[in-house]
Amino acid sequence: MNIHEYQTKELLRGYGVAVPDGRVTHNVDNAVAIAEDLGGERGVVKAQIHAGGRGKGGGVKVAESLDEVRQFTDEMIGMQLVTPQTGEEGRLVQRVLVEQACDIKKEYYLGLVIDRATQRITVIASASGGMNIEEVAKTDPDRVIREAVDPAIGLAGFQCRKIAAKIGLRGQQISEAAKLMQALYKCFREKDALLAEINPLAELGDGKLMALDAKMSFDSNAMYRRPTITELRDFDEEDSKEVEATGHGLNYIALDGNVGCIVNGAGLAMATMDSISFHGGKPANFLDVGGGASPEKVGNAFRIVLQDPNVKIILVNIFAGINRCDWIAEGLVQAMRDQDISVPIVVRLAGTNVEKGAPILEASGFPFIMADNLDDASTKVMASLEASA
Ligand code: GDP
Ligand code: MN
Repeated sequence: MNIHEYQTKELLRGYGVAVPDGRVTHNVDNAVAIAEDLGGERGVVKAQIHAGGRGKGGGVKVAESLDEVRQFTDEMIGMQLVTPQTGEEGRLVQRVLVEQACDIKKEYYLGLVIDRATQRITVIASASGGMNIEEVAKTDPDRVIREAVDPAIGLAGFQCRKIAAKIGLRGQQISEAAKLMQALYKCFREKDALLAEINPLAELGDGKLMALDAKMSFDSNAMYRRPTITELRDFDEEDSKEVEATGHGLNYIALDGNVGCIVNGAGLAMATMDSISFHGGKPANFLDVGGGASPEKVGNAFRIVLQDPNVKIILVNIFAGINRCDWIAEGLVQAMRDQDISVPIVVRLAGTNVEKGAPILEASGFPFIMADNLDDASTKVMASLEASA
């Protein structure tokens, strides 16, 4: 689960991390009032969306006057902001963060991630911070410093000082950076984060360090015990199909292919996506209807999958253990009756009551394409896509 920059900064401020003064708003007059309140002519206007790279897309602007604060806010609110991370359709900007402008001398990068290979929270730091850290990691990996944290000990002071020295900080800055890293680590652990990133960590004109941009994302599976973080969830930033699916007890993840998938069980859903890819196709989604899928659940699954305009065909792959193939078949027929479904449906049924399921589909008169096994199903999906191309 992701949160906005202004929320992350608020959270980190509570842990003692130095962040610029600022407030969020969705209104132009307010933006000017905030800038005035902050006491300067200059101010930074920052679009709040759950995607990075905003600087490159025109979503971060330094205003030299209150008129410019007004102008930039007016331009940003309501725009579809396109950045290297949003895809070409961009993201609707509904709010901006208005902050005190800082005089930046140098930009560093500081992040915490969970390294799955070592199973440890790892500090990542670089002297080449700012807008191109992904580039630096690719072309100049030596400029990116990594330090794994022992979970029993936590992030040790000597580790922080070592990292700080390696990215070129000196004197007082080293203990300042160490304090900041420990605050970030504490927040990361206490809030069940998966990622925390400060980019840029700026060195200001007076030598002080400040988090000018901050991003955190959290483990959705731990949010039941983190109500203060759960509150920060912004449904507008999430795929509406995924939000709806959660409400119906379905696990749905939108992808960018054209083969809709309706499957029971996460493992089988993964195998189904693999099989489609193996046959040269591209899945439009991951969807696990779970065990004991009622006809209503199957109907909801169809409705959600078909909200994606890229879907050209649907593959239903059911291996019924707790489920029963006859229920699933009834759900399929019901969905065909209730919904205006014009794409072909390939169905593979196996397991409990399979001998009752297939006849229900046949008797319905709808043109289901029946498959004997998963490989056969993917082959039929590809043949059907080719025939209609
Ligand atoms: P991102 O592109 O989405 O990661 O947005 P950032 O918040 O990191 O902003 C991008 C860039 O804008 C930063 O690397 C800075 O160079 C610049 N920037 C951000 N805040 C300020 C500020 O207060 N003053 C100045 N002069 N530049 C800023
Ligand atoms: Mn940034």
